Amino acid sequence: LVSQGASAQTRAPAQGQPASQATIAARADALIAQMTPEEKAAQLVTYFYMGQSAASDQRVKNGAGSFLFLTDPKEINRLQRVSAEQSRLKIPLLFGFDVVHGLSTIFPVPIGQAASWDPALAERNQAVAAAEARAVGLHWAFAPMVDIARDPRWGRMVEGAGEDPYLGAAMAAAQVRGFQGADYGAPGRIIAGPKHFAAYGAALGGRDYDEVNVADAELWNVYFPPFKAAIDAGAGNIMSAYMGINGIPAPANHWLLTDVLRQKWGFKGWVVSDAQAVINLKTHGLTADGQGSATQALNSGLDMEMAFAAPAFANLPKALAAGQTSQATIDAAVRRLLEAKLRLGLFEHPYVDEARADKVLRSPAHLEAARIAAERSAVLLRNEGGLLPLDRRKLRAVAVIGGLADSPQDSNGPWVFAQNKPATQSLLEGLRAKLGNQVTVTYAPGVKLPIRTNPSQFDAMGPAVKRPEPLDDTTGIAEAVKAAQGADVAIVVVGEAQNMIGEQASRSTLDLPGRQQELLDAVVATGKPVVVVLLNGRPLDLKGTKAQAILDMWYPGSRGGTATANLLLGDAVPGGKLPFTWPRNVGQVPLTYAHLASHDPANVAKRYWNEAGTPAYPFGHGLSYSTFAYSGLSIDKAQIAPGGSVTVSAEVTNTGTRTADEVAQLYIHQRTGTAARPVRELKGFTRVTLKPGEVRKLTFRLGPDELRYWNAAARDWVSDEAVFDVAVGTDSTAAFGASFAVKAGS
Ligand code: BGC
Repeated sequence: LVSQGASAQTRAPAQGQPASQATIAARADALIAQMTPEEKAAQLVTYFYMGQSAASDQRVKNGAGSFLFLTDPKEINRLQRVSAEQSRLKIPLLFGFDVVHGLSTIFPVPIGQAASWDPALAERNQAVAAAEARAVGLHWAFAPMVDIARDPRWGRMVEGAGEDPYLGAAMAAAQVRGFQGADYGAPGRIIAGPKHFAAYGAALGGRDYDEVNVADAELWNVYFPPFKAAIDAGAGNIMSAYMGINGIPAPANHWLLTDVLRQKWGFKGWVVSDAQAVINLKTHGLTADGQGSATQALNSGLDMEMAFAAPAFANLPKALAAGQTSQATIDAAVRRLLEAKLRLGLFEHPYVDEARADKVLRSPAHLEAARIAAERSAVLLRNEGGLLPLDRRKLRAVAVIGGLADSPQDSNGPWVFAQNKPATQSLLEGLRAKLGNQVTVTYAPGVKLPIRTNPSQFDAMGPAVKRPEPLDDTTGIAEAVKAAQGADVAIVVVGEAQNMIGEQASRSTLDLPGRQQELLDAVVATGKPVVVVLLNGRPLDLKGTKAQAILDMWYPGSRGGTATANLLLGDAVPGGKLPFTWPRNVGQVPLTYAHLASHDPANVAKRYWNEAGTPAYPFGHGLSYSTFAYSGLSIDKAQIAPGGSVTVSAEVTNTGTRTADEVAQLYIHQRTGTAARPVRELKGFTRVTLKPGEVRKLTFRLGPDELRYWNAAARDWVSDEAVFDVAVGTDSTAAFGASFAVKAGS
């Protein structure tokens, strides 16, 4: 099944042997030499797969480069066969998909994985996702999403690692390694495509796709670092963003795609547009027609167009003839893509083993990984009176309340599609299985959630969530109250349904959708102990609920039910921490812990007079069933020269009675500088497991990378001579307890 287009050129490497860069480049160039301008233009498009059709087949025959949104191995093989048998050059197709938090085995949503503060966990999860994706014939993930998000009204906050560039960079790099391993051509690996370059998360008002106006310093210090980390980790692809940044749409932003990405950072892979983003350059008012759009995008550094149909890139031959772009520019883009296909070994092995897929998807080991991930991602926000863990010996009856408790689909979160058979448990199912026959579990949905149908392409591609009318039916609250009254404890599952968050799911409030708040308040009013379990991907405003315990499960995925039950019953101990600042209400957003020194939140005159400037929960917050104490903060040197580094040490002790995890966090504050610096910045963290009474010595290195920042006046990274305060502790309110100076001549 070797495609002749390739084998006729240069010898393919033997199976399992990585091809050298020189061989790959020579093979790509030999192919390019044979391609017509039309074939090159076709190669530079990834098409949404819209079902088996003559139109799809024709695209393949014309030499289309890639398809997205197809995950059926049979159909993937069929299209590869059309390419091998009916296209002139027989270049294999590349198949891409939004493998965001699992393909068939679903892991917690990315914001949840970030809450684990465990990059190694995210790396393992994405390795599982890659293995499942490759098993069905996919080669390329439109992930990780590494957009920093500081405005929770933006629905896509759920897809990223939250507000912090340091945590975000660690999670970005880990996920790239997870998808690609050391070499994305190896079995079970796929290409990672970090997205959306860049600053998509800064959309005005948190409105999806709205314009972005960010200062230079913010771009470099906040929004870029996760991309840079992903590229340094070897990401093979980058997806450009939809929106305009400082007036220039991202897919036609030469400064972003060429000056920064390629020239400054040395990115060697290919850049794909977001869906329809090249065509939409006209909508932005940047171009007059498809030919202009194609030219501007390509000339700016965009290599591939993602399109539903009729791509703008089909105009590239005309643009070339008109002298609007050059042969060299087109060839460079084609070469990047062909090199990726060659590195994947697609010319030798274009087909996938259809029978094998079923054995790989949702294997017991994968589902076990999903359980561990869900447990490690959970954040215990509140636990008054030590209500959690529930004491199984004393439990006779439990009320499980809330429609989301009984909805596997909603506990998956966004980017999970029925076509991949996610086979997820509901939280109710997990709780029933855990509590067995000894405990009576009464389920009462309470209120129905409002319908929110997506007005977008996702209706066609994903399972539209159809919820029963009427939308505002509160008649079930009485039944829920009764269930709570008859129980030892009420577990109230509230949050946002799967399609109330994610792309095209921005919100103007952070309130619980529908009548869920009334339900929660009514259950709390019974006086019974209440545990709130949240399904969410952004902070929510629970209106000061008096519920004793709040456990944030995010959208926990395939084994969310078991994980929730284990956590509630104490067979697992929560150890996650918030990857964002949790505001009291929507009026406070955007709210970040790393604000500039001049914006003192304690100064009410500079904040809102009607609301405390503090958040509901600080960045890095998360409780445990044990307790921890920090001591012995010390720095090995009092003074260093610019470019030097210090080692920070501290001790953390498990002062409680249970083996548990703690995420130790290191923050710095630069007292003076040639630009205003944030009141604190995360520059180190580690998640440790400690037995009761166990003491762990922690060491962190602070060197040039941690101490520099982008200075807009210098238009470069600078390292100021200054005094730096250091804090090591349990969250972003940890007190500064040591300092060191950076001084020339030290
Ligand atoms: C999203 C991308 C996604 C693409 C393909 C777009 O609308 O912004 O994140 O990868 O669709 O599904």
